[in-house]
Amino acid sequence: MNFQEICDDLNSRKGDGHDARPRTYIGASSIGDTCHAYQTFCMRGFPGNSPDVKLQRIFNIGHALEPLVINSLKDAGIHVMERDPMTGNQYRFTAYGDHFMANVDGIAEVDGEPWIVEVKTLMAKKWREMVKYGIKKSHPKYLAQVQACMGLSGYMKAMLVAINKDTAEIAIQVIDFDVIEWGAISARAEAVLKGSGVRESDDPESWGCRYCFKRDICWEPSKVSYKPQCSRCECSVPDILNRGGSWICTIGGGGESASPASVKATDVCGQFKAWTPPASEAPTHKVHKVNDLPF
Ligand code: SF4
Ligand code: SF4
Repeated sequence: MNFQEICDDLNSRKGDGHDARPRTYIGASSIGDTCHAYQTFCMRGFPGNSPDVKLQRIFNIGHALEPLVINSLKDAGIHVMERDPMTGNQYRFTAYGDHFMANVDGIAEVDGEPWIVEVKTLMAKKWREMVKYGIKKSHPKYLAQVQACMGLSGYMKAMLVAINKDTAEIAIQVIDFDVIEWGAISARAEAVLKGSGVRESDDPESWGCRYCFKRDICWEPSKVSYKPQCSRCECSVPDILNRGGSWICTIGGGGESASPASVKATDVCGQFKAWTPPASEAPTHKVHKVNDLPF
């Protein structure tokens, strides 16, 4: 058996194309990404490029280390719950009809107060930067994620627990809810919900686009195969007033009711046309009553 060949194979496999089951909501973990097109592709459930095998392994290592880090907190006497007793699943907080969502690693009880717990595994260099400069400077996207978790849950405190992948040292960043940060985050989510799906860059070779998981669907959609569904249709808008992450067809197709602009978009009809980023800042559709919501 040639182990070198096996390793070469294990380390050189490409991703298997595009993820078959992409998320279908604006996620707290990616709300720090300022590209509205990216957020819209996520919200509408378009497939992203799947990571190559090494990157996927890095993600898997991060997930595998999360329980170890949580157990270290428990060893230190911090009461942490990883599962919502109501559902048996990860704690989840949502808004806008479940189109904006946060899944959190745990809820800690500190001095009688609930805290969001977010675990990150970092390379030594990145871990040291975080310890030295603080999360706001070193990892603003993680900060946005944690602020979104607090904004969606209503909790006022969070701890970001980072483990150094080289030394296994643990560092905790204490983060207070910041209403101004949350305002910026929720404004971005609202803009996307209202239809501002503009691209952040008009150059597919820009740094942000080259490493974007939605790059193919954004710039070369013919390379991506996916099933038509109403959320991916340019005629649909997110139903933000009812829970369940559902969609409304603005032309009244696909449903049993004949009332245009109010039909739940559940069944794909012959008028399906895939959503694409608009050329200008002008929203592609209106979402009613977003501004009436308490955000
Ligand atoms: S490829 Fe670029 S423009 Fe397109 S979604 Fe990604 S970051 Fe935005
Ligand atoms: S019912 Fe037809 S037109 Fe309406 S959102 Fe679905 S696919 Fe698009």
